[in-house]
Amino acid sequence: MTTPIIYDLIGIGIGPFNLGLAALTENISTLNCLFLDENPSFNWHPGLLLPWARMQVPFHADLVTLADPCSKYSYLAFLKARKRLLRFTILEKYFPLRSEYHDYCAWVAKYLKTLKFGYKVENVEYDKERQAYRITAWQGNFTSRAYFYAKKIVIGIGSRPFIPEGIQDKMYLPYLTHASGYLYHKKDFIERGDITIIGSGQSAAEIFYDLLQLYPDRLGQLTWITRSGILPMDYSKFSCEMTSPEYTSHFFSLSSEMKGKVLAGQDNLYKGINRSLIQMIYERLYLISLSRPNLKSDIRILPHRELLDIRPLEISGKMFLKLCHTETMEMNKHLSSATILATGYENQPPAFLEGIKDRISFDAKGRLAINRNYAIDKTGDSIFIQNAELHTHGFNSADLGLGTYRNMVIVNSILGYEHYGIPADNTFQSF
Ligand SMILES: Cc1cc2nc3c(=O)[nH]c(=O)nc-3n(C[C@H](O)[C@H](O)[C@H](O)COP(=O)(O)OP(=O)(O)OC[C@H]3O[C@@H](n4cnc5c(N)ncnc54)[C@H](O)[C@@H]3O)c2cc1C
Repeated sequence: MTTPIIYDLIGIGIGPFNLGLAALTENISTLNCLFLDENPSFNWHPGLLLPWARMQVPFHADLVTLADPCSKYSYLAFLKARKRLLRFTILEKYFPLRSEYHDYCAWVAKYLKTLKFGYKVENVEYDKERQAYRITAWQGNFTSRAYFYAKKIVIGIGSRPFIPEGIQDKMYLPYLTHASGYLYHKKDFIERGDITIIGSGQSAAEIFYDLLQLYPDRLGQLTWITRSGILPMDYSKFSCEMTSPEYTSHFFSLSSEMKGKVLAGQDNLYKGINRSLIQMIYERLYLISLSRPNLKSDIRILPHRELLDIRPLEISGKMFLKLCHTETMEMNKHLSSATILATGYENQPPAFLEGIKDRISFDAKGRLAINRNYAIDKTGDSIFIQNAELHTHGFNSADLGLGTYRNMVIVNSILGYEHYGIPADNTFQSF
């Protein structure tokens, strides 16, 4: 039997966060790294990759720039390689197209030799003899298993679609999907003639705008139901300062109870819709209303309604949506031929950690107790997690703008010294 390689670091999942980590560790000669992902190649939210949609972060919040502005993997280096640098500067659009950001990540992924696609991690154990984690992954369409060993692990598996309570057991219904599957179903849904979107965030707004382009020629009716209002994302200067090491440290220092209270009042900082998209939607509605003054009978926007239930109606083939007005408490019903749940995403402790549960820290609510350095193991130095620390580090856990900072902290913790200088004194505010 050959002796297996024991990697210094294995990253599980290759989304933007672990891809950034792979880019930032490429030139660290003392670290032998490997990154695994279940997909056959880099694939960033393909079901919502609308060609016109823009990022919610500026181009310099790419995989590397805030840690290493001279990196060959910067967004500007990508544009140069694609011969679009001059056009990009003339365009003066600070927030890249999402499709272009996806191409950028795929471009970086192509050059990194530490990535392995087509491996779905199913289990992690601790091998006492080797003093390393043993990672079991399904390979090539679940045909065989592969085993890998690592001293440290960084989990970057993202989040999964959130379906509201009471609806989870209805997802078998045809013409009902989570927004993450929108583009796979768009054609079939349009053929149904009327579509309902549930949700108040960026995805709901993007889908609404996308479908609005098809009215009235290819789509007869469109309804947008939101529990809150139509909330713009606060992207003002002092709010942007909160996506900083300083604010993260401040939030981390709060009690668990206070963190919950603070987060409850911060929807506008991370759940809102780009102001430019709100403007685009309004302009489109205004334009259509010039030729269709009765627009509201076809295009309905219903804020302050909570979806309580969805039931199939056998005869008409439609769905019955039970809604509750959150202010008047009136019950409403709504009929829909196709429904899209843009109800967000959630984090759960990954099932593949079950085998090493005793090594992991959990809080009183059963959530991962994530250390300031993003470690989740009891020794605080061997298993790290990305984009799961909303309840410990604050609202910007999923923010791509904070990804390089978190990766710098993780790299420094793994190495045991400050390889990447963590920038200090970044904000005018003292939190
Ligand atoms: C449509 C959309 C647009 C967004 N746009 C922005 C934006 O503009 N700005 C911003 O700041 N944030 C944005 N976000 C939020 C967030 O930052 C992104 O979701 C980002 O993709 C998170 O990156 P990640 O690396 O954590 O996870 P993901 O991108 O979800 O990647 C995780 C990867 O891990 C793989 N994986 C999961 N389980 C396993 C396993 N067991 N074994 C192997 N592989 C596994 C998955 O297949 C996936 O490839 C957006 C989110 C969505 C849904």
